[in-house]
Amino acid sequence: MADCLFCQIAQKKVPSEIIYEDEEIIAFNDIKPKAPIHILVIPKKHIEKLQDIEDNDKELLGKILLVIKKIAKEKNIEKAYKVQINCGQDAGQLVPHLHFHLLGGFKTPKGDL
Ligand code: 5GP
Ligand code: ZN
Repeated sequence: MADCLFCQIAQKKVPSEIIYEDEEIIAFNDIKPKAPIHILVIPKKHIEKLQDIEDNDKELLGKILLVIKKIAKEKNIEKAYKVQINCGQDAGQLVPHLHFHLLGGFKTPKGDL
């Protein structure tokens, strides 16, 4: 989609700090990180939101989870991370292109548990 920010990032028309890329998926640093590590993992094809996925997206979605697993390992956060998908504007989805937030690098202060 020509006017979609994340399509433009996927096509390198808008610059980003790319963490991972293959034919179908791209991952890049979030511009306003909400955790020490905050990476967005997206399908390159335009899917607006989770509610729009179809049966033939199953493989792609599985691959995205495997990419998240791989990035988490590479970033040394595999023991503690969160994956978040906001679906719909009222749930905080500001960019209408499906994206998985990978958040990590949290520190639990000693004595808090
Ligand atoms: P949402 O709120 O839609 O679930 O998440 C969108 C995310 O995209 C936000 O965390 C926001 O900081 C990030 N974002 C918005 N514009 C840009 C941009 O131009 N580049 C990058 N790398 N991230 C962006
Ligand atoms: Zn898009």
